[in-house]
Amino acid sequence: MAKDGKHDLDQATIDTIAVHAGEGADPTTRAHNLPIYQTATFTFETADEKEEAVDGALAWEPNRYFYTRTNNPTTAALEAKLAALEGAESAIASAAGMSAISAGLLAHLKHGDHLIVADDLFIISQILFAEDFPSRGIDVTPVEITNLEAVKAAMRPNTKIIFAEVLSNPWMRISDVPALATIAHDANALLVIDNTFLSSVTIRPLEFGADLVLQTTTKWISGHGDALGGIAAGSKALVDPIRRQTDLLGGAASPFNSWLIARGARTLPLRVERATANATQLAAFLEGHEKVEWVRHPSLASHPDRAVADRILGGKWGGMLSFKPRAAAGVDPLDAMRAFADNIALFGVGVSLGEVDTLVYPMPKRGGIFRISVGIEGSDDIIREFDRALAFVK
Ligand SMILES: *Cc1c(COP(=O)(O)O)cnc(C)c1O
Repeated sequence: MAKDGKHDLDQATIDTIAVHAGEGADPTTRAHNLPIYQTATFTFETADEKEEAVDGALAWEPNRYFYTRTNNPTTAALEAKLAALEGAESAIASAAGMSAISAGLLAHLKHGDHLIVADDLFIISQILFAEDFPSRGIDVTPVEITNLEAVKAAMRPNTKIIFAEVLSNPWMRISDVPALATIAHDANALLVIDNTFLSSVTIRPLEFGADLVLQTTTKWISGHGDALGGIAAGSKALVDPIRRQTDLLGGAASPFNSWLIARGARTLPLRVERATANATQLAAFLEGHEKVEWVRHPSLASHPDRAVADRILGGKWGGMLSFKPRAAAGVDPLDAMRAFADNIALFGVGVSLGEVDTLVYPMPKRGGIFRISVGIEGSDDIIREFDRALAFVK
């Protein structure tokens, strides 16, 4: 890894940033790789040093390591890497994507404020906005986020934030991030983006006008499905209140998880590129398949937001797609769904996404469609396995 963390990454590509940002020989041992500082607390030589640390920590401007709920060197290294990946001035890592989203929004909303959210968000975010925020005096309006006129019409004098995912779940609609940023900024509101489904390899929302990125690191960024984590990234002025909120709510990342996520993040660009290539080939294969009713992936000419994709995704379409098996006349679509899911063998059926292996997620409450997180396996092997399982669809 880079010698002393003094390397300049200003001109670097995302491939180099993923490997080198936040890295550098450990100052005490010169360990080549990031150590896991598996400690709750840090000690001081003198009473004055301790007092200085406590004062800094309680101003949420830590000047040294103090206590792992507030800061930790392994987590700080991860934060530096993730800030660089997002092109952000600052980032705060936390225990899960949901801690980044809840602390990130609560830090910037108060009783009486209005929040606009996309109407087809990740289900746990939907529940947070439908049940928890309103009961705490924050008004929430869900809107069809690809309908910019509807977003404008939903704005109120007390609207403080528009919150959207770049790629929606499971319909794979693409938010027009720059247009949403204009709507938000014209009203002195913030645009906050959850980019979990695509990652900074495909789009860096801050470069398209978003003010904050709040998302999970559990999925593509970690990439190996072995740790939960979240990240809030943006300007220091917007991230500092989230650092305080995360500390108050006790959402600290565990040092071991930070280490796992930093390790995974080093290969993020490679994995996303491979998953994109595999998903692009699988989408084309499924689109021509007689047992498939429709397939949605940003690479396809048939995608409803194709023009937006061309403008903001820069040809890196990501590894997420959705499709619906074609049930024969008189066959229940849910039986068609079961026939595919129950016969797929090489890949797991389960929640989550962004792992090295392909994951298949059946959605009976959405009419029997599938969300697929395409992995980094051999493309021909993925296609052969889908073809084999589709043969069971009647
Ligand atoms: C999984 C997910 C989250 C939540 O992340 P956790 O780490 O599971 O808390 C948030 N947003 C999206 C889009 C997700 O897919």
